[in-house]
Amino acid sequence: MNTDNVRVRFAPSPTGYLHVGGLRTALYNYLFARKNKGVFLLRIEDTDRNRYVEGAVDNLLNTLKFVGLAYDEGPYFQSERNDIYKGYADKLVNNGYAYKCFCTTEDLYLMREQQRTNEQDTKYDGRCRKLSSHKIEENVESGKRYVIRAKIPQDGHVEFNDMVRGKISFRWDMVEDQVLMKSDGYPTYHLANVVDDHLMRITHIIRGEEWLTSTPKHIFLYQALDLKQPVFAHLPLLLNPDKSKLSKRQGDVAVEDFILKGYLPEALVNYVALLGWHSSEDQEIFSLKELEQEFSLKRINKAGAVFDQEKLKWLNGHYIRSLDTVKLAERLKIYFRQAGITIDDKEKYYKVINFAKERINLLPDIIPETEMFYSYLDHKNIDSEIIEDPLSRKIAKFWADELSILDDISDEEIKNLIKKTTDKLKVKGKKLYFPLRLALYGKEHGPNIPILIELLGKEESIKRLRSASGV
Ligand code: GLU
Repeated sequence: MNTDNVRVRFAPSPTGYLHVGGLRTALYNYLFARKNKGVFLLRIEDTDRNRYVEGAVDNLLNTLKFVGLAYDEGPYFQSERNDIYKGYADKLVNNGYAYKCFCTTEDLYLMREQQRTNEQDTKYDGRCRKLSSHKIEENVESGKRYVIRAKIPQDGHVEFNDMVRGKISFRWDMVEDQVLMKSDGYPTYHLANVVDDHLMRITHIIRGEEWLTSTPKHIFLYQALDLKQPVFAHLPLLLNPDKSKLSKRQGDVAVEDFILKGYLPEALVNYVALLGWHSSEDQEIFSLKELEQEFSLKRINKAGAVFDQEKLKWLNGHYIRSLDTVKLAERLKIYFRQAGITIDDKEKYYKVINFAKERINLLPDIIPETEMFYSYLDHKNIDSEIIEDPLSRKIAKFWADELSILDDISDEEIKNLIKKTTDKLKVKGKKLYFPLRLALYGKEHGPNIPILIELLGKEESIKRLRSASGV
């Protein structure tokens, strides 16, 4: 494969949010460019004015920035390049590769109904191909609205090589006379996409499999305009766990939603990289920098890739744990603020985060995992019979008294105290830990007692033990 001067692009149509499939396309293009010391450009395909969504472009740019996919050129906006496409459409008409079509929405509707009744494939039947130049002129002069359609060959095959899927062949008669310019004067995706890929000197088109059936139309245009055809690589579909096409109905698909739910960009990028690609060593954990070295179009799979939210969550947990505690603590402050928890003891806060980061997979989970270190613990509200047991009260009182005379609440001292309790009160194991944990933490299960006491501090531990001894 010739990878000299690689130029690739991410060419989203701004629909309001970035789909995880879009993130994968952007990422693979980015990685391919980095790996080959090429150029990655961003082109906003916004010629469908009916689908214009306010704020969609800003949203897209922010999301790309957040996940760290920096582009070298762009963003180019197709909506600002209309004259360029118009020139190419005129050229196609003049050279006999495209024609003006005056059919109205109603004409098209009736045509389809007729085809359905006759059990034929529904597609434009090419009736305006046959209009005389005189008729065309007359229609234009009388102000009739028209579109420009491609004059697709009516027989034979179109063949091309896809880097992922190998040799692909389509029958021309299965391809419709695609609209290239709409009656509102804007080009369709197909024309603008081909013209821009040419003008922007794109060498490789890496995009989702859903565009595979559009490729014959694009090849037609490359040939009709006598342009050099880029290399195609169509990425496998993204699937729900039940193997249906990944859809919003079965869970989140917007990258923004994942970010809001507390996924880290590192985890998203790493996970999305694995959707349809594998490394030579089957390694799974990759930073963006490592992916830039490792990525290759040769190891893209043909089979659809299942989007497994559980795996993403697990990976997110991995990234949370690998973050430096102080940095993570900074990132988590916002959740504490939202939960109304004031952090004034920094040392305690870092200890709490250091402990809890082992136990969470999503950033917001930090609150249920740690709020008991900050909030008032009302033992009367604890739903457990153990807390009311006389032995539990005795243990709590014993610990409150013993802790108050300890200078040091080190791990070792607490372990000694556990031994002492067993000797004095003849209690050990669950019978000792459950009451203590309920008293200190409100739950039977959770961190070890020495950790709990360290996180709460001596004073707060004594306070909680005293309260529990009176329940
Ligand atoms: N604008 C298309 C999209 O929204 C681009 C497809 C392509 O890459 O050619 O995905």
